[in-house]
Amino acid sequence: MNEESPQTKEINKIQDSLERAKSELAILYEISNAMRTTLKLDEILYIILTGVTAHIGLSFNRAVLMLVNEKSGLIEGKLGLGPGSEEEADGIWKNIEQEKMDLEDLINAYKISAKSVLESPFNRQVERLKLSLHSESGGLLASSALDGMPLLLTKDSIKNYANDPLIKLLNTEELALAPLKAKDKVNGLILADNFITKKPISKDDMRMLIMLANQAGLAIENSQLYENALIRSHTDLLTNLWNHGYFQFLLQAELDKAKANKTFLSLVSLDIDDFKIYNDMFGHQAGDRILKELSDILKSHSRKMDFVCRYGGEEFSIILPQTQKNEAFFIAERFRKEIEKFGLSQKEMFPDKRLTVSLGVASFPEDGDLPSDLISCSDKALYQAKKQGKNTTCC
Ligand code: GH3
Ligand code: MG
Ligand code: MG
Repeated sequence: MNEESPQTKEINKIQDSLERAKSELAILYEISNAMRTTLKLDEILYIILTGVTAHIGLSFNRAVLMLVNEKSGLIEGKLGLGPGSEEEADGIWKNIEQEKMDLEDLINAYKISAKSVLESPFNRQVERLKLSLHSESGGLLASSALDGMPLLLTKDSIKNYANDPLIKLLNTEELALAPLKAKDKVNGLILADNFITKKPISKDDMRMLIMLANQAGLAIENSQLYENALIRSHTDLLTNLWNHGYFQFLLQAELDKAKANKTFLSLVSLDIDDFKIYNDMFGHQAGDRILKELSDILKSHSRKMDFVCRYGGEEFSIILPQTQKNEAFFIAERFRKEIEKFGLSQKEMFPDKRLTVSLGVASFPEDGDLPSDLISCSDKALYQAKKQGKNTTCC
């Protein structure tokens, strides 16, 4: 007779739940430690979702992270982690087992494999998700984000949300949702499912997800505050363009890239014509407003990949990656013509009934391979444009 006594059964039960609590604590401890190793938002998001999906973490098959963008009133997909199919899942999970990877190894793997994570079809779909926080089309997701309430959609209850854009994307039988909170504000959502193994999502799974989400919300807020402070420190306050210090950094970094990839790079220097006269007549505050207007024109007529910087005073520098001199000349001419057009549209404001700029262009590789080479070369070209009567671009 080795039937367990009621006391032994009870002790075993307590021991089991202690073991589980211990391993849950260890997992949360490891993930929150990892979150403290970086302030970069993309790395934080990856660490969070690795914690949600890793077999030694919360071991969901798949996870999605979305962030609230208060400015645009949208909740936006930021990262989707998980296999796209059963075969892919088998491959990934076998590899993790063979390599005996622990949570730390998985998190470190991002540095090497970030590209393949970001380019996976699932992540691409997630990145395209943008749902309104304020309209019906946002559906379940938006309302859950606003309420700040976790949600477990089971096989039955998920049917009520069949038309929700997120449910359509995930095409899953069960789904766990946990809001990310920083202080009392909801700043995002984590979604997780077991779309391959179909393992039911338990109350314990849900509890762990909520605890992780609470940590994650704070880590995300810290990282956003840090990134905003970093951007501010690189930005010129008057014009909102990149400032001189960051211009120097960017030029070196972009030149390094151009050299490594054996491609081109051009630099445009721009100086306002006779700006002193304008300032003397109308005062520096009016002059500042013109600087702001011109900066907006430069921003809106540059390409997404270009860097528009305020070199100093009423001089601007525009870095054009992957751009040869002839193309840079056309871009510079576009800037010049747009500013001339603006000047004519507001001509009563200007002493000479016009506002114009002069520009100089220099390019890598033909004009040198150091930042100082390109700056002095584009300056010389700019000086030539001034000598030729201003409102001109020289190379
Ligand atoms: P040029 O056509 O030869 O460029 O003539 P310019 O009068 O524009 O001469 P310069 O480029 O040397 O102009 C410098 C003037 O720009 C001096 C100053 O009045 C004005 N300026 C420089 N920085 C600022 C600024 O931050 N705000 C304002 N309002 N004016 C500035
Ligand atoms: Mg000047
Ligand atoms: Mg000037």
